[in-house]
Amino acid sequence: MSGVVDPLINKTITGNPPVLEEQAARYARDLDYKCDRLLALWQETKPLFVKKGATKPAFLRALQGLHKSTQLYGYAALHQCLDSLLDQVMKTTSENASLHQYRIEHLLRRIKLLADGQTIHSSGMEAESHVLMLPPLYLLSNNEIFNDQFLRELDIFGITVRKFSELDQLIEALTEGIPGILIVALELMDEQRVQSLTEVIQHQIPLVFLAEEDSWQARIRSVRLGAEGFISTQDPADRVLDYLKVQRDIDSELTPTVMLVDDSPSFASYGAQVLEASGVDVFPVMDPLKVIPLLQEQDFDLLLLDLHMPECAGNELAAVIRQYPKYQQLPIVYLSTETGLQRQLEALSVGGDDFLVKPISEAHLVSAVHQRIERFRSLKKLINLDDLTGLVNQINIKLSLETQIKQCLADERPLCLALLDIDHFKEINDGYGHLMGDVVIQALGHLLKFQVPADCLPGRYGGEEFAIIAPNTELEEAHALVEALRVRFEKIEFSCGSKRLHVTFSGGVVQCQPSMNVDQLIQSADECMYKAKASGRNKTLSE
Ligand code: GH3
Ligand code: MG
Ligand code: MG
Repeated sequence: MSGVVDPLINKTITGNPPVLEEQAARYARDLDYKCDRLLALWQETKPLFVKKGATKPAFLRALQGLHKSTQLYGYAALHQCLDSLLDQVMKTTSENASLHQYRIEHLLRRIKLLADGQTIHSSGMEAESHVLMLPPLYLLSNNEIFNDQFLRELDIFGITVRKFSELDQLIEALTEGIPGILIVALELMDEQRVQSLTEVIQHQIPLVFLAEEDSWQARIRSVRLGAEGFISTQDPADRVLDYLKVQRDIDSELTPTVMLVDDSPSFASYGAQVLEASGVDVFPVMDPLKVIPLLQEQDFDLLLLDLHMPECAGNELAAVIRQYPKYQQLPIVYLSTETGLQRQLEALSVGGDDFLVKPISEAHLVSAVHQRIERFRSLKKLINLDDLTGLVNQINIKLSLETQIKQCLADERPLCLALLDIDHFKEINDGYGHLMGDVVIQALGHLLKFQVPADCLPGRYGGEEFAIIAPNTELEEAHALVEALRVRFEKIEFSCGSKRLHVTFSGGVVQCQPSMNVDQLIQSADECMYKAKASGRNKTLSE
């Protein structure tokens, strides 16, 4: 029987007998977990690998097992990736280990991505597989009224709280597993007790102090005892979530892309070869005049720029690039034989970020490029965060949308965009004050941060408006996600003095059509959201 090739995973689906089909379905369901396990084993073996180029037997066994079974069940693309990974691991010696590490991690990321795609498209269990793994919070407090309220409120955000009334019980639980945050009542703490806690948690997680009220005395006492965070029993419970980090960056899975500008063909090809082998996409350019047109065509994480070129000098080229407002943040690193400090400084002053000197060893080039890309990516993320909610801001939403649209359309994968706008928000500001309005915005921000699946990106679009980018997601699924958020949000009880209030939002969800650009997609989500408003608010509409 001839097979059909699924474009996403390149898996050949054939008509199997029922028993095999059942087995195959089980395999498909477990695949994601198996890949996660491989990743976890890699983390365990990584120190040994980097030092000696060797791997622990458990990692190798898992890798070989997956390599064999993906072939057996016909996961061609995954199998191919695992094949390269196995090859890479086998070829590694203590001399080339640090170089191979990046290539291996690149392959592992790709394997994870392929396995994720598989789970989404094969089993209908998508919601399960992409839910964020949220760690519980541990709370040590004897204020029962507060504790109960705190547990109830955080439950709406999908966060579990385990409460303790005795320090000993808490310490025992901590030795078994570390939570996401540790919250302890200030009045139960002294230096010795804090020390016994920090011995166990070792600064791995934030230690947050809980005080009956937010006073200067309470804050300074908590700082002196070593608190990293502070909340009071009067604060909305979700404030503590500011201290909880979520790993979410749908762009970080993208292959790092570097432009290498060098007039020497031999260096360009050497650099390209070395960096490609470490998992970077390299565009070698020997003619400086081609740089700007290429920048306009393609997104880059980093520009490696030679200084001495006949057509124009590298620093002149950097200055030209910086004249374009949209390339002002683009990281530029000079890679040149220039060793004169004065010349290097001059080159940096016109818009370069860093200087690497040629000749450069493979290992040095690879680690320098990867480190810089990572640093620039995390800086970019920080700059583009909204300070009230900690979510990405409008600029970042649009940038990410641009990349995601390109990728999803190219691979014929679905992409949805949702816009959420709080209902009658002006009345909240007017009736309860602007600060109360901020509390509401923060709560919706927290809800999105912790309830939106790991491969989607929530952001604050502006004012009381939020956006969710959902790649690899069908319209129905995205609608269900927003609807679930809406139901959770209206359950949150806000208190302002003695008054209690509930707030709602209206949401519009649309799927990107092949002809759409960023602005058109946003506009169509906006129109859909306004229809939800017009038809009575506190609703999700999709079209
Ligand atoms: P609708 O249900 O139609 O959306 O009505 P609305 O009152 O929510 O919408 P409108 O756009 O009239 O009002 C939004 C208000 O949000 C106006 C603006 O002052 C307020 N706002 C914008 N940003 C912030 C902020 O960061 N904090 C607070 N507290 N208010 C903000
Ligand atoms: Mg609005
Ligand atoms: Mg509004």
